[in-house]
Amino acid sequence: MRAQVQEQHSSPLVARDRPSPIAGPGEVVLRVVAAGLNHLDLWLQQGDTGDALSLPRVPGSDVLGDVTAVGDGVSDALLGERVILYPGRACGSCAFCTEGSLSACRQFEILGYNYDGGYAQEIAVAADAVVPVGADASLAWAAVPVSYITAWNALVRTGGIARGDVVAIWGASGGLGNAALRIASALGARVVAIVGSAEKALWLAATGFDGDVLVRGDDLVKRVRAVTGGRGVDLVLDHVGAATWNDSLRMLSVRGHLAFCGVTTGHSVQTDLRQVFGKQLTIAGSWIGDPADLMAVVELLRAHPDALPVIQNSFTLDNAVAAQEAIADSAGNGKTILRCVEASTVQGEDR
Ligand SMILES: [Zn+2]
Repeated sequence: MRAQVQEQHSSPLVARDRPSPIAGPGEVVLRVVAAGLNHLDLWLQQGDTGDALSLPRVPGSDVLGDVTAVGDGVSDALLGERVILYPGRACGSCAFCTEGSLSACRQFEILGYNYDGGYAQEIAVAADAVVPVGADASLAWAAVPVSYITAWNALVRTGGIARGDVVAIWGASGGLGNAALRIASALGARVVAIVGSAEKALWLAATGFDGDVLVRGDDLVKRVRAVTGGRGVDLVLDHVGAATWNDSLRMLSVRGHLAFCGVTTGHSVQTDLRQVFGKQLTIAGSWIGDPADLMAVVELLRAHPDALPVIQNSFTLDNAVAAQEAIADSAGNGKTILRCVEASTVQGEDR
């Protein structure tokens, strides 16, 4: 079977033929239908994140596939099911793992980052990582796991979002931000979308979003106040970090909640602490999410298929290098996937 492999840091992926995987005890084998790309894949490529990474590695944390084989101890009922994968694994025995909080386990590992992922025609994984999504599940499901469990954990489980809440979302056209926008909208919240350019605002409108869209700029907090009747927002989803932190605090209403889950612009900030106690704010950090978050996301998306991710670019597995170049481009609207099942011999004809 074909796989795209990160063999060295700071180098492009290399296509390799590898033996088809075999389902060990407790495992299943999937024929990968499609794999979603994440910035994590680029961090693996760069290799300078400070994480202990070992190569070679098949990237790909988001996987949609069909179960083609089951190992000892796994129910035959899974055969033929179309599934997505929980994108992590953990020790299975610590206090966090025992309560299902895998992402808090000190030995947590990410699929496609710490162990081989979905940039391949086939993959063997633990059976307890699979979540059936229905035989008719579209390719958009391939872009769900990482973005949607991260957004769900931050907004819903940690953030306590409620119907009618006003929620500001930074980077609302990107993978994580757009997942958060779609989850919040499906749950009956009012979204104030924040984007980096007028072009991104147009993209959001073209995807059917009809709420407030604000383009980043000096008077952003004032504009958030203007669209909320001077009150500010109940909840902010911030995954940007140093560049947005203080504006996030300022745009919150009294007793507002900051859901914080990323530091793409840096991790050191000066904070006006009067904002925090004066307005009685809650600041909660979260990172990825747990299997229960993925189950909840699947339930939500099956009831609200309009909340599935927007697939902006789609490439065959053979064109994984071009797919990674597409997400490295800062345009960053929507999600990019690899169609693995139809790995072709024709280069460069898709997108
Ligand atoms: Zn553990």
